[in-house]
Amino acid sequence: MKDYTIIGAGLVGSLQAVFLAQRGYNVKVFERRPDIRKANIYQGRSINLALSDRGWRALDKVGLSDDIRKIAIPMYKRTMHDQQGKLTYQPYGKENQAIYSVSRGELNKTLLSLADRYDNTQFHFNMRCMDIDLDKKIIHFRNELSGEMLAESYQYLIGTDGAYSAVRHRLMFNDRFNYSQQYIEHGYKELSIEPNEDGTHKMEKNTLHIWPREDFMLIALPNIDGSFTCTLFLAWEGNVSFESLKTERDIISFFQFYFPDVIPMMPDFVEQFMKNPTSSLAIMRCYPWHYQDHVLLMGDAAHAIVPFYGQGMNAGFEDCTIFDEMLDQYANNYESLFADFGKRRKPDGDAIADLALRNFIEMRDLTADPEFLLRKKIEARFSDKYPELWTPLYTMVTFSHMPYSQALKEGIRQDEIMKEVMNRPDIEKVWDSEEVENHMKQLIQNR
Ligand SMILES: Cc1cc2nc3c(=O)[nH]c(=O)nc-3n(C[C@H](O)[C@H](O)[C@H](O)COP(=O)(O)OP(=O)(O)OC[C@H]3O[C@@H](n4cnc5c(N)ncnc54)[C@H](O)[C@@H]3O)c2cc1C
Repeated sequence: MKDYTIIGAGLVGSLQAVFLAQRGYNVKVFERRPDIRKANIYQGRSINLALSDRGWRALDKVGLSDDIRKIAIPMYKRTMHDQQGKLTYQPYGKENQAIYSVSRGELNKTLLSLADRYDNTQFHFNMRCMDIDLDKKIIHFRNELSGEMLAESYQYLIGTDGAYSAVRHRLMFNDRFNYSQQYIEHGYKELSIEPNEDGTHKMEKNTLHIWPREDFMLIALPNIDGSFTCTLFLAWEGNVSFESLKTERDIISFFQFYFPDVIPMMPDFVEQFMKNPTSSLAIMRCYPWHYQDHVLLMGDAAHAIVPFYGQGMNAGFEDCTIFDEMLDQYANNYESLFADFGKRRKPDGDAIADLALRNFIEMRDLTADPEFLLRKKIEARFSDKYPELWTPLYTMVTFSHMPYSQALKEGIRQDEIMKEVMNRPDIEKVWDSEEVENHMKQLIQNR
């Protein structure tokens, strides 16, 4: 019988607990915060995430998709709001293909409750991992309520303790452990659009709303209670930045100029802006993700990325799926399982980190650019007609299980092809012609 200890009962840790419990292993989970099912750790704010195919596959595997579908809102397209309030639309994929807005808290609670149903799983809340003795296989915890220090031995340890992982921190003291951390110049602030009096949404519900403003953007995802959670991504410093928005007047002028259509839907925007925290965004990369055959990092602890592709959690859930598949293959060869998992997933962790940064530029800047929208139309048309020749990058990342590293490679090849196509002087007139199709086919063959 194998004993697993998981540190961090966030989204990935609680899902990983379910996967291991379903195999009959003994699973102990330690989480520094209180039990989210009892304590309101989000202080009344609803924070949501976009769940897509990679995440759904993991939830399917543990039999949770039906429960989550009940609390998920499909978003079939992007709706872009320009400064005059004019709307344009861009479908995410083919008909019925959607990403899903889900409450982070509800998803976490559901995963915890499922894991808790197994007798072989134990949860320990308010337990912060402080250090690990890797030679003796002992974890040192501090009880966050009593301040008491406790030591726990482990057989196999999985660190799913997020971007600022204590488990990873311990591995950083090992020889030849690589680590990098990059804060981007943008931070974010969450704001909320409350429902209409009758509980309905104030904007179209089944879509992800974006207000692209070149260097920054606001986005809004729907919640099942009729509200929207909005996130403003803005530089920390500079002419238009969090730093420049100090007074009530600054904030009012900023909203009046850049987001006039938001004001009637969010009458308390000044108060929210001043009250809600501003948070930073960072990319963390490290390697190796394991220590010998007994410690492994997964989720944000191994690969924290910026949120612009809506893939951080999805990538972490995919870690769980792939680890589960590897457990079947490595049943008698446990020694190299942890090392091989990292070897297999590291290129994909790096690729989704790069893709997420690329998508920031696409969302904040290019979605308002007519040339970019034309390029997307050409790609969508070509891919509809010749699905075997062209899968849009967004589809590969969001609606497939192709390794992220392969999707990135293919995306770079597509960029080169589309650059040539868009360089045609007559492209605006002939974009939907057979001539352009043949040009694309020829370019595909040559690359
Ligand atoms: C603004 C924003 C929007 C996002 N939107 C999306 C999206 O739309 N789609 C998507 O797929 N992803 C999104 N993400 C990314 C997603 O939130 C993360 O990838 C995901 O939460 C990672 O899960 P995790 O379990 O690895 O880490 P976390 O969710 O951070 O969980 C880590 C857990 O470990 C606990 N912990 C930490 N340290 C210790 C310790 N020392 N001892 C014990 N416990 C500890 C924490 O309390 C926490 O419960 C977004 C992220 C941000 C910031």
